[in-house]
Amino acid sequence: MGKRVFNFYAGPATLPLSVLEEAQKDFIDWKGCGMSVMEMSHRSKEYDSIIKDAESRLIRLLNIPDTYKVLFLQGGAHLQFSMIPLNLLSENECADYIVTGEWAEKAYKEAVNVGRKANISASSKEKEFRFYPQPQEWKLTPGAVYVHYTSNNTIYGTRINSFPEFKDRFAVCDMSSDFLSRPFDVSRFGLVYAGAQKNAGPAGVTIVIIRKDLLEKQTAKNLPTMLKYKIHAEKDSLYNTPPSYNIYICGLVFKWLEELGGLSQMEKINEKKASLIYDAVDNSTGFYKATADKQDRSLMNINFRLPSAELDEQFIQEAKKLGMIGVKGYRTVGGIRASVYNAMPVEGAEKLALFMKEFMERNAGKSEKSAN
Ligand SMILES: *Cc1c(COP(=O)(O)O)cnc(C)c1O
Repeated sequence: MGKRVFNFYAGPATLPLSVLEEAQKDFIDWKGCGMSVMEMSHRSKEYDSIIKDAESRLIRLLNIPDTYKVLFLQGGAHLQFSMIPLNLLSENECADYIVTGEWAEKAYKEAVNVGRKANISASSKEKEFRFYPQPQEWKLTPGAVYVHYTSNNTIYGTRINSFPEFKDRFAVCDMSSDFLSRPFDVSRFGLVYAGAQKNAGPAGVTIVIIRKDLLEKQTAKNLPTMLKYKIHAEKDSLYNTPPSYNIYICGLVFKWLEELGGLSQMEKINEKKASLIYDAVDNSTGFYKATADKQDRSLMNINFRLPSAELDEQFIQEAKKLGMIGVKGYRTVGGIRASVYNAMPVEGAEKLALFMKEFMERNAGKSEKSAN
């Protein structure tokens, strides 16, 4: 396996090698059934066992209560931006949105776009999304049905540190970029969603966990059937042909997480990886500058800048030569973004941190007073 790179792309992102190897082993002939998972009828006994296995592993990993339903849908996190208000908000109701980055803002705009009343209850936009507004400071609207927030801001590298509890409304959370990176209490949410391609599997499937009583809410009259949570729930995500191979790979990722020791263990590993890189930033006497405020730093997407755009570019090119790809910052942000999702091995973070020190020693010193 000499050829695999350390892939720091923000998504689609790296997958666990053991998952790829297991899929490879069963690629042509899944467990002796004589065909690939891709070739199976989604109504077959074999596929039924695959999707059920994925679902039950996810339920175990997150301790999902009986009062919730897991759905495997299509259309990405983007489609959830409209499905959520269309299904869960009537025209005469309103919802609150916390705007902490581009995805959060898109979710808000889409709620307005589908004709619903949405309020921005907190935002970090004026400070270039450098921080995460504390839940105590959110200006929630009395009587609003739900509050929507993004747990991890993929582009700006901030996150919410702990998930607030609400008594008089439910929370809806876009967890696309840190789903399964840490444990969380599902019962604090009415709905959680995540596009799979950051942390859970390949692009093409979106995981939704919805509180069952919300399935009964009928809010839009002419809603296309494919956009109704209730239909997908009644048919156990098999109303139409699901992204069957992608769900299979997600199941293998869930199995990998269980075998690793679950989400608390995963969180510890993620903390270790992130601190290796943040330490290299913090111990660089200003050569590397983190762009997110320290207390709100993401463990998944680590953003920083070098002293100049030229050095950013040189850093990206040299990292690539050393087999570390995808560290270029988001196009509107610039700088460096290293995405270290669950499947990034600790060795990848170690290698990047080591390279950061070495690169700094070679390139600092003109304007900075570097150590020795
Ligand atoms: C990547 C991402 C999205 C967009 O996901 P798509 O699957 O491309 O629709 C939305 N929200 C967050 C937090 C993301 O990281």
